[in-house]
Amino acid sequence: MSLSEIAARIEAACVKAGRAPDAAQLIAVSKVQPLERVTAVLDQGHRLFGENRVQEAAGKWPDLRDQYGDIDVHLIGPLQSNKTRQAMELFQAIHSVDRPKLAKTIARLAQEMGHCPDIFLQINTGEEPQKAGVLPAETDAFVAECRGLDLPIQGLMCIPPVDEEPSLHFALLAKLANRNGLYGLSMGMSGDFESAIALGATHVRVGSAIFGERTTQA
Ligand SMILES: *Cc1c(COP(=O)(O)O)cnc(C)c1O
Repeated sequence: MSLSEIAARIEAACVKAGRAPDAAQLIAVSKVQPLERVTAVLDQGHRLFGENRVQEAAGKWPDLRDQYGDIDVHLIGPLQSNKTRQAMELFQAIHSVDRPKLAKTIARLAQEMGHCPDIFLQINTGEEPQKAGVLPAETDAFVAECRGLDLPIQGLMCIPPVDEEPSLHFALLAKLANRNGLYGLSMGMSGDFESAIALGATHVRVGSAIFGERTTQA
């Protein structure tokens, strides 16, 4: 699907939900895509991208920023503590803050560096043992802890289990955000971004629907 078709579907979904047409931002997830597909989307004027690995992003975006100027890139994949500084230099937002130790590292580096990316806390809404994120029952305490560290928390993020109805997870994430006074909701991917928008998504992370299927695993 073309970028403009996806953008039109996002706008329509916002309007249908009674929200402003631009209430949900499109994060074009460019992980493991060939460079020419990424530059094609840049050439169409899009300036918000998502990557799930620090190393891969570091090899790509500094050069593209030299060519195209300001581009927002958000980290949507797991962050190892030893890559935190590099991530804070590269990304305008980190959607995968999933443990107190990482939150503390970010807070300490933010003091030192004098700036901090926008922060989303990843919630393991499906309570899957192999998946990152804090459990729904631990969310309120984690939000409070991150607020205590003065982190700029924009909202919450989730990746629903592959075999469950995603809407249930989007609704749960919205409820957790709402009761913590958070507005940002990073949820919805290629297959389900419209239902995520219906439930309040402010950031949808869409990869294969824009760029085509990934030929290698991310
Ligand atoms: C890869 C990825 C996406 C995009 O997935 P698509 O199904 O290709 O749209 C969204 N969110 C995260 C966290 C991802 O790793």
